[in-house]
Amino acid sequence: IKVAVPRETAEGERRVAMESSVIAKLGKLGAEVLVEAGAGSAAHIPDAAFTGATIVPSAAELYQQADIVLKVQPPSAEEIALLKEGDVLIGSLQPYKFPELVAALKAKNITAYAMELIPRISRAQAMDVLSSQAAVAGYKAAIMGSDLCPRFFPMLTTAAGTIRPSKVIVIGAGVAGLQAIATARRLGAVVEGYDVRSATKEQVQSLGAKFIELGIKAEGAGGYARELTAEEKQQQQDELAKHIATADVLITTAAVPGRPSPKIIPESTVDGMKSGAIIIDLAAEGGGNCTLTQPGQTIVHNGVTIHAPLNVPSQVPVHASEMYAKNLFNFLSPMLKDGQYQPDFEDEVIAGALLTHGGKIMNESIRQLVE
Ligand code: NAD
Repeated sequence: IKVAVPRETAEGERRVAMESSVIAKLGKLGAEVLVEAGAGSAAHIPDAAFTGATIVPSAAELYQQADIVLKVQPPSAEEIALLKEGDVLIGSLQPYKFPELVAALKAKNITAYAMELIPRISRAQAMDVLSSQAAVAGYKAAIMGSDLCPRFFPMLTTAAGTIRPSKVIVIGAGVAGLQAIATARRLGAVVEGYDVRSATKEQVQSLGAKFIELGIKAEGAGGYARELTAEEKQQQQDELAKHIATADVLITTAAVPGRPSPKIIPESTVDGMKSGAIIIDLAAEGGGNCTLTQPGQTIVHNGVTIHAPLNVPSQVPVHASEMYAKNLFNFLSPMLKDGQYQPDFEDEVIAGALLTHGGKIMNESIRQLVE
């Protein structure tokens, strides 16, 4: 069976869905790995480093030979045209954002697995691209914050006097937020964290940060948060504003699955911040947690810089690719038996990720969206 890895074509995408250690492991399962020439160059993996894989000169030739295609970004219209009927596609397909892509995959009878749809159960943690890539983004958010901040993060005792440490506040203590907290702590900042799920209090504190307690509890299904009521939103904004007024760097990561990013930081809160303060809005992909956020841009409002980068994991392409490729291998390997692709569609992880198969949309909520 041939597992093919094309060069990513989406603008700004530097990651690749393969890593050298994965090639050998796939080989042991009887799969042959094909990699498009230059696929790893933006992630600093030269063709020669894909030891054991066959390097194929063009995307057209790669897709022509492929049985299973591994991707980072959803395929473009050109890439869908290159897929052959009955091919298997595995990647971060963002089906809620691109319903027309789902319709095209269905029409072409592609067996597509969307990694975001994998149920978040313990057994699937090693396959969870949302977690691995969120960890990358959280780390980078703290680094961006320290880079843009006009102050030091750590306390410094120097001959020129003692410098007070910066205060970093992180809103949303999921995978990304906890990694942002850990990274800001390592850089020496004083850190406070906030989330609406009470389980996060202990996690925030275990990283050496203070937990901001507001008394709003909003655990939703599957370990996620639910959307707040209008009253809770107002209470949250008012109380958080007092804390945020003291921050040098504010990192926001709050998300509710399948919903636009919750707006937690109104203009009035930004107006209350110090001149020189920095907001890193990691929720920009879903519209942002700050009402002033312009996704993909950096703006300055009354001396406060609001930085809202998109596709942050792509900015750390070496390790983001390594983690992503391992997630994909952990998902794919149980489906490979004796060199054959033999998925067990009864398995809840495989069934959960299955987006299209046999000319049908297999995920109920996405079917309703598309049809
Ligand atoms: P996410 O990206 O959906 O959300 C980020 C954070 O924002 C969450 O912690 C959420 O509670 C918080 N949030 C939402 N609305 C908010 C608001 N109004 N104010 C403040 N915070 C708000 O979440 P995530 O990081 O992908 O994961 C969340 C949870 O799922 C974590 O507990 C994580 O451990 C768990 N998880 C489990 C698995 C698994 O078992 N396979 C995998 C990944 C994550």
